[in-house]
Amino acid sequence: MKREYCTQMEAARKGIITPELKKVASKENRRIEEVLPLVAEGKIVIPANINHKCLDANGVGSMLKTKINVNLGISRDCKDYDIEMKKVMQAVELGAESIMDLSSHGDTTTFRRKLCKECPAMIGTVPIYDSVIHFKRDLKELTAKDFLDVIRLHGEDGVDFVTLHCGITRKTIEQIRSGSRKMNIVSRGGSLVFAWMSMTGEENPFYEYYDEILEICREYDMTISLGDACRPGCLADATDGVQIEELIKLGELTERAWKRDVQVMVEGPGHVPMDQIAANMKIQQTICKGAPFYVLGPLVTDIAPGYDHITSAIGGAIAAWSGAAFLCYVTPAEHLALPNVDDVRQGIIASKIAAHSADIAKGIPGAREQDDRMANARRALDWDAQWTEALDPTTAKAIRDSRLPEDDHSDTCSMCGKFCAVRSMNKALAGEVIDIL
Ligand code: SF4
Repeated sequence: MKREYCTQMEAARKGIITPELKKVASKENRRIEEVLPLVAEGKIVIPANINHKCLDANGVGSMLKTKINVNLGISRDCKDYDIEMKKVMQAVELGAESIMDLSSHGDTTTFRRKLCKECPAMIGTVPIYDSVIHFKRDLKELTAKDFLDVIRLHGEDGVDFVTLHCGITRKTIEQIRSGSRKMNIVSRGGSLVFAWMSMTGEENPFYEYYDEILEICREYDMTISLGDACRPGCLADATDGVQIEELIKLGELTERAWKRDVQVMVEGPGHVPMDQIAANMKIQQTICKGAPFYVLGPLVTDIAPGYDHITSAIGGAIAAWSGAAFLCYVTPAEHLALPNVDDVRQGIIASKIAAHSADIAKGIPGAREQDDRMANARRALDWDAQWTEALDPTTAKAIRDSRLPEDDHSDTCSMCGKFCAVRSMNKALAGEVIDIL
């Protein structure tokens, strides 16, 4: 039977309750009548390509649980498809709602199709990466039509959202060339668009042919993630004119997409000092009329390579608390190497902590229940119940088991042994003798 709508946004505007909308409302403990108008207004997106048949749909919006994305994909230096699929399944198990396939080598089509066939998380891509590989031609030889063809191909394959760097124009080239920034452009996709424009002398094809792109996205219900080519790559570039000027352009493009019922997220910074994060979220919400903000970090200091999952979790927690809806994970390998399976795991856990902490502070319905159950388990010194509530039970259990207290395995841990405050209080309140020696 033919659908009476193209996109989730169009359906909501027509008052149609889609199966995906129903699922989102139920997962978020919200009433359908609450969620539907927010999808219609663009404040919640439900990335759900009509061809992603195994999708377990999620909503993205600042009033919902904060979602996290995991980047992976085949590259020239790491081309083991099985390892990438292992990272995908680990990410889904650990609760990532989204996977971005950033493959830039080899048979990207087969990997992308496998992902869309087997992975229930929403799938995102950056079509400009794939254009060079797909056509096996260097960047300069590609035409605007080639880029559009790859966007369509990703739509056909079932990709739920595409990052498109539509917001830079020839004016941006002059701004960057003026040398006002320390780190120029650090977005991989943004740098490719910049390079293509510099080499061909033409306007940004993702900006120039935006209306055609909207028609493709409408056809497959692919959400556009408006890429922030000019996100700051260091604290010194944060919230500068180049970043804000691009954001204003993204605001205009958001409204143009909404006119065609195409769902939009807006990508955000980058490297940002803690005291500027809340203001950045506010500016984005104002300029982009409440479209969900998808932040890449933000990293709150530049000097911790090897630990950027922590610098990013600090920034991500503040960002989500201040209005960001979606966090892109960062791993310990950021700025250093392609993440391995363990780096991916650490990045996901750090992002989940940031997202969950923000959800508690925002008062998202039900967000604190797990914390309260953990407190009960801790008070009861019930270790099995603690593993059930832990974000990463494997690591938690492994640490305890590696250093059990010598004389009583089921009771305290080896941190304080018989001086355990919880044990002492439980016994004292029960009127029991507290045996320490
Ligand atoms: S021994 Fe110390 S750290 Fe371990 S459970 Fe008791 S109070 Fe907590």
